[in-house]
Amino acid sequence: NADAAMYLAKSSGRNSYKFYTADLNARAREILAIESQLRFALERDEFVLHYQPLVDMLTGRVVGAEALIRWQHPNLGLIGPAGFIQVAEERGFIVQIGNWVIREACRQLAEWLARGLPKMTVSVNLSALQFRQQDLTAVIEDALTEYGLSGDCLDVEVTETVVMEDAEATLAAIERIKAMGLSLSIDDFGTGYSSLSYLKRFKADKLKIDRSFVRDIPGDSDDAAITRAIINMAKYLNMQVVAEGVETREQWDFLAGEGCDLVQGYLVAKPMPAAEFATRYGETPGVELAELGL
Ligand code: C2E
Ligand code: MG
Ligand code: MG
Ligand code: MG
Repeated sequence: NADAAMYLAKSSGRNSYKFYTADLNARAREILAIESQLRFALERDEFVLHYQPLVDMLTGRVVGAEALIRWQHPNLGLIGPAGFIQVAEERGFIVQIGNWVIREACRQLAEWLARGLPKMTVSVNLSALQFRQQDLTAVIEDALTEYGLSGDCLDVEVTETVVMEDAEATLAAIERIKAMGLSLSIDDFGTGYSSLSYLKRFKADKLKIDRSFVRDIPGDSDDAAITRAIINMAKYLNMQVVAEGVETREQWDFLAGEGCDLVQGYLVAKPMPAAEFATRYGETPGVELAELGL
């Protein structure tokens, strides 16, 4: 249907794309159109994970990769998460899709390790609904077991909002996940609402500074102050800090000067298919900082 095609074509473009809400009926039709196709995407094997490296600022080593889902639509091409994750959440598909992400990330990492790629951690994004399924820990445990991986091979990324929505239940699930050896990252930090006391209770291993704060550093003095404050707080709470969305040398230099631990962003690499990731990072377990002009 033409509306759906147009919607999906648009949403495959920018991350910043938002549903146009001029007409609620149009919005409802769009959701229906995506939903009707999303419903079958899993069984048709149309999802794919791309991987973006996380780099240690001191050594240039790739210490991990974030797995980011894309929908390989038969007619419309590759659709980014902005085009379908929200609908998947609204319709509850996200639980099955998210479980697929966990298994696929484990499968891919096991394949890489078997081919001799250096050991690293793969991060997966979890949404709130996944924490409400009773067997989240069983899903993770089964995937690790099936692919012969230890818990420290996986990192789970949750946003502050997910954590705060149902704090006690999420806290219990996170404790079980951490007991299995996985690490926990708080994603998009600074954009949601969160209580610092919960942050302490969750014992997150990493804080990921949201891209919106990184974008205008070092020039914007407010963003520079916020970024510096997050880095310092993370240090005092014994968490590693990751800067998301690093695109320029100036941002890198500022973050390095402030003691940021890890960087993820287009300056190093955009998310890429697994095969390309293995080619780029299979031989040398890191990026040559000189190559980046650093
Ligand atoms: P996120 O978890 O914060 O992921 C980082 C996003 O920032 C990715 O967008 C990545 O491509 C983008 N990015 C990284 N470096 C740069 C940069 O230097 N500049 C710019 N402009 N962007 C950069 P992507 O892949 O479109 O994913 C968007 C969001 O979709 C993710 O944000 C995450 O919240 C969600 N998402 C992705 N995969 C999954 C998944 O498997 N499950 C769930 N529940 N959500 C997912
Ligand atoms: Mg993330
Ligand atoms: Mg993020
Ligand atoms: Mg995000």
